[in-house]
This record gives sequence, C-alpha cells and structure tokens, in this order.
Amino acid sequence: MLDYIIRGGQVVTPGGVGGWDIGVQGEKIVAIAEPGALTEQVGRVIDASGKIVIPGGVEPHAHVAAPIMGHPNTETAPPDQVSRAALFGGTTTLVDFAIQGPGRDIFQAIEERNGRWKGQSYADYTYHCMLLGDIPSEVISQIPQVIDAGFPSFKVFTTNIRPNTHDRMARLGHVAAVMEEVAAANGLMIVHAEDDDLVQFLYQRLQNQGTYDWTHMHKAHTNMSEDISFRRIIRAAEWTGAAVYFVHVSAKEGVQAIREARGKGLPIYGETLHNYVSFTADDYQKADGMKYHTYPSLKSEEDRQALWTGLLKGDIHTMATDEYCTSYALKVEGKTIENVTGGHNGAETRVGITYTEGVVKRGMSLEHFVNVTSTNAARLLGLYPRKGALAPGSDADIVFIDPTVHKTLSMSDFHITDYSIWEGWEVHGWPVFTMLRGKIVVENGRLAGVQGSGMLIPRKIDSDLLSRPRL
Ligand SMILES: [Zn+2]
Repeated sequence: MLDYIIRGGQVVTPGGVGGWDIGVQGEKIVAIAEPGALTEQVGRVIDASGKIVIPGGVEPHAHVAAPIMGHPNTETAPPDQVSRAALFGGTTTLVDFAIQGPGRDIFQAIEERNGRWKGQSYADYTYHCMLLGDIPSEVISQIPQVIDAGFPSFKVFTTNIRPNTHDRMARLGHVAAVMEEVAAANGLMIVHAEDDDLVQFLYQRLQNQGTYDWTHMHKAHTNMSEDISFRRIIRAAEWTGAAVYFVHVSAKEGVQAIREARGKGLPIYGETLHNYVSFTADDYQKADGMKYHTYPSLKSEEDRQALWTGLLKGDIHTMATDEYCTSYALKVEGKTIENVTGGHNGAETRVGITYTEGVVKRGMSLEHFVNVTSTNAARLLGLYPRKGALAPGSDADIVFIDPTVHKTLSMSDFHITDYSIWEGWEVHGWPVFTMLRGKIVVENGRLAGVQGSGMLIPRKIDSDLLSRPRL
C-alpha cells in the first residue's frame, strides 16, 4: 500500500529527467517507476501533469532568530515564519547557524538553537557552527565531537565586516588551527572571506571623503578585498588540507580564485545569492536602495555576469539567500555604509527566481537547476541522499514547479515580513506544491503543514567531497 503516487510530471532525478511515477510511503520515496508501473493500492494519486517535479530545496545559508548587527535585543524572523515561507517557495530544509562566542562553547550554541527550533519549524533544519572572533583552543578541541554529533560545518569570518566592531573576525592563526581540526575530522570550513585591513581602511577613507552613505557600500567591500582574502584562505586550506565553502561569492575575482583552486585539485566550493545574480551596486542608488544590500556588497554588472557564468559552468555550486529577515522599517533604517542592515529575506523566492533566471532565461538544464537549489548543498553539507534527491530511500521532500505561471510578483505572493526586493519581478514558472517527508505541506496556495513537524536532520559529509573538487 502506497500513501501517494505522483503521476504525469516531468521528474528530475539523479539519473536524469523523465516522465516517471513516484511512489511515496510514510516519510520516504519508495519507487521511481515507468508510467503506470506502480499498481499497488494507493491512498491518493496526485496529478502532476504539466509540472516539473523536483526535490525540495535546501537553503544552505539562513540566519534565523539571529541577533541583528547594530540592533541589540532585536532578532531576525523566527523559525516558524522563515520555515513557513520557505515551504511556500519550494524549500524544505533550512541551514541556520549555532553561534559560539565568548561564554558559550559549540555544544551550548547547538543547545541554544535546539531550544529555538524544536517544536517551532514547518520545515526540516540543521545548523552550521559559527565560530566568532579568536577561537579558544578549548572550543577548537570540541570540533571532532561536534562533527560526530552531526554538525560537520564550521563558519569563520576573516573580517569584522563593519568598523568599530571587534568580535567577529578570526585572525589567520586561529583560522588555520580550526582548519587543521576540521580537516582531520572530516568537516567543512564555511568562510565569509574579506580582507579586513582593506575593508577597515576603506571605511575610514570613505568617511574622510564624506562619501559614507550606503550607496558607496561596494567601495568599502571591494573586488580587491574578495580576491585577496579568497586566495589567502585557499592557501591556508592547501597547507592544512581543509575543504572550504565560500559563502556569498560576490565578485568575478572570487569566482576566478575558486576556479583556479579547483583546477589544482583542491576541494574548494562556492555559493552565490539570488540577489547577487539579479541586482548590482547601481541598485544602491535607488531611494531605498539599501534594501538590496547583503554583505559583502552588490558589485558591478560584469561581476553579476561572472557569477552567472560561474554558476552555469560549475565554479559556483549553490544558490543561497543569506536569509536575514527583518521588517522593511528596520532594513532601510540605516543610512550609512556603517549602519545599513545586510541580509535578505529570500528563502521563499530562491527556487522560483533561480528557475526563471536560470532555466527560462539562461537555458540552465533542469538537472543543473536542481543541483544548485538542492542537491549540491545537500551533498556538500552532508544531507545527501536523504535530502536533495528524488530517489528510492530519500525523504519524500517533493516540489512541483508550474512552468505555465507567468506573473509579476506582488506582496500577495510572499508569506513573510512586509516587503520583498522581488516585488514587481516578472517570473515564468513558480513553485506550487510542496511535500515534506511524505506530508503535503503546501497545495493550491494554502499551507497544510503543521508547526513543529520540521525535524533536526543530522549530517555527515562524504569524505570524497572533502578531499578533491567534486560537484
Ligand atoms: Zn550570512
């Protein structure tokens, strides 16, 4: 007895795209079969005719219920809000951050996150471990146990991002020490890489020049900074044997550094963001142009094109959001390059925008679309094949894209906060159905999921991905 047969869709599997039937039993996919071949009794047949059927999206970069820089006691949107919007947008797994810092070790950080997520989420979830500042040796020595506990990815910052803050950047010695431990225990480094010397110098110079309003953001967070910092991290990775995933690649130099490192056989991976491939620093010039901002910064049209080329050619592996959902009022409150709020409320729009911009406009194959929105993040972060695949044995996380949807996005298309930089964006194709572990959670524009049904998913990364460039 099957619970569901999904019939008639164009199904994107690890073995190719075809008109297969999908059998779902309990939380799992149990069969991908020729049309009509599933003859057992079934609870319900779901007609997917005309739809593209893909694995649920994996959002590899989300800051949920996170402290907001420069706004003490204020947090980004909580798990229930972000996960609900994610399901509407075809994303079924979110990767948040457990933040270690002064007075809190990694296990305490994970406990804190469990307290925020458990019983709250509509989608499945896990956390990267974020290590802040100069990381104490006692914390570094926890890394093997943390990896064994199912949290094998560790984020560090090579910059404080803003002036007059001192608690974020890890100096190179600490980064290398973390890399040694992470490499030895089959973990992955997640790096926000910018050159802090350059960033801090440029802030000071822009202030001295009286060009400190937010429209100059890309002059503080520059291509040169990304270039130099990426290469420094890649050299440290080569010395220590660590695998690195660069978050929010924004510049053509970042793409190039990753490409060269992979050419040398190093396990280096890159992420970009759907706002980075859709907007440029010119958008900062608009009256409320700070709403487009995510750190490091939007760059030029040439960079935007290089990000697309990198994504299409495989130098960049994931399309993420850097989810950081605030109200519109908070997002546009800061007016200088020192106090604007970064991040993007885009977990909901990520899959649909990538479909329109990648598949429809740039001829990205459906397999590659699934790779950059789901499979690659699942593989790299150790969720695969439970997540990121339509295959027997995988979780029945199943999304339909309706390619006949042609619309201009309006606020009624969004299910979180009171603004979106995607309002007014024209899309061709949009997620219309979402199943999470065998339960229909979005259908006919309505939420059917239940708060608290999202689960923490333990992770383990395939060591092959950590020793050479795969994906
Ligand atoms: Zn981030």
